[in-house]
Amino acid sequence: MVKNVFDSVASKYDLMNDAMSMGVHRLWKDEFVSSLKPGRRGAIKCIDVAGGTGDIALRILDFAREKYADRETSVEVVDINAQMLQEGYRRFKKTMYHNTPQVSFHEANAQELPSEKFADNSYDLYTIAFGIRNCTSIPAVLQEAHRVLKPGGTFACLEFNKVNNPLLNTNSSTWNYSFWGSGSYQYLVESIRKFPSQPDFAQMIRDAGFVTGKDIDGAAWTNLWGGVACIHTGVKV
Ligand code: SAM
Repeated sequence: MVKNVFDSVASKYDLMNDAMSMGVHRLWKDEFVSSLKPGRRGAIKCIDVAGGTGDIALRILDFAREKYADRETSVEVVDINAQMLQEGYRRFKKTMYHNTPQVSFHEANAQELPSEKFADNSYDLYTIAFGIRNCTSIPAVLQEAHRVLKPGGTFACLEFNKVNNPLLNTNSSTWNYSFWGSGSYQYLVESIRKFPSQPDFAQMIRDAGFVTGKDIDGAAWTNLWGGVACIHTGVKV
């Protein structure tokens, strides 16, 4: 079903993203990537799961190049939906990363990454942005993230949250729903509503074997815009 939802929005995905968050998703993604500082300790190997059209991958590569003159950090973009990946591939064609070992696109399910392609202990950074809420089993995604990361590697998730502020809540769901008026959008709104709270999600990350900060806002997670979106990280020990 998720595959169909994203099939129906792939070509207008970026536009839809802008409308959903009124452009703010760009700032959140910038903040997400800059908080991870890719390239700071030399070139790293990244996997961006549920990577869609490559928004996070592009930011990782740009950040590493612009801040640290790093042209060796690489990102494997993984998504269950071939059409989203195709859009991403088309987009990267216009960038300096096209046809370099820095970026590649792979169709796979986050819940069962094929181990012959995504080997144990092979990545320094695993990112998933606005993707984990679409997965049927969050623990399965986290388990796979833990498997493919190297010891010392970082899991980082950017995701929408349930919002307590009724004004923001209206902005992020009702307004957009009436704007798009689509079943796909209704599905997205529902998936945000069902997503675990920040402490519950932090616990799930720990249950998968990661170490997170303490369960205090700003340590195990960082709220963006008062919790409309949230960054969670964990380290594989
Ligand atoms: N990370 C991108 C971004 O922030 O722009 C794309 C986010 S988009 C809202 C969610 C993506 O998750 C879609 O491209 C969808 O195909 C993908 N997705 C959903 N379920 C998935 C799964 N089980 N495995 C891999 N990708 C999945």
